[in-house]
Amino acid sequence: MSDDTIFSKIIRREIPADFLYEDDDCLVIKDAYPQAPTHVLVIPKKPIPRLADATSDDRALLGHLMLKVGDIARELGIDEAFRVCINNGANAGQTVFHLHIHILAGKTFKENSLSMQ
Ligand code: 5GP
Repeated sequence: MSDDTIFSKIIRREIPADFLYEDDDCLVIKDAYPQAPTHVLVIPKKPIPRLADATSDDRALLGHLMLKVGDIARELGIDEAFRVCINNGANAGQTVFHLHIHILAGKTFKENSLSMQ
C-alpha cells in the first residue's frame, strides 16, 4: 500500500526520526544511513510513490520541495556545495516508495559518480 511506507510512519510519528524541519506539506529528516557527512531527506507529506507519479496537481508542492532544499542547505551551511538526488524506481536505487529528495554534502563528489551499472 503506497500510503504505508517507512516515511508515512515517520510522518504519523509511529517511528522516530531526527527532524530538522516540518510544515503542512513536507518534512526534512536526517537519513538513518548517511552516505555523506550531511545526508538529509526532504519528504512531501502527500504519499506520491515516485517522481514519475507526480502530476500537474503537484506543481506547487514540487516547487515548495525544491525551494526547501535551498533553505535547508543555507541553514546547514552547505549551500556552496551539495548534491541533490531523487531515485525513481528500484533499478535507479529507490528503496522507499514515497517520493523524497536526498541532499548530500560534506565530501567531494566525483564528476562521474552518477553512472549506473
Ligand atoms: P531511496 O533508496 O529510496 O532513494 O532512499 C531511501 C532512504 O531512506 C535511504 O537513504 C535510507 O538510508 C533512508 N531510510 C531508510 N529507512 C529509514 C528510516 O527508518 N529512517 C530514516 N531517517 N531514513 C531511512
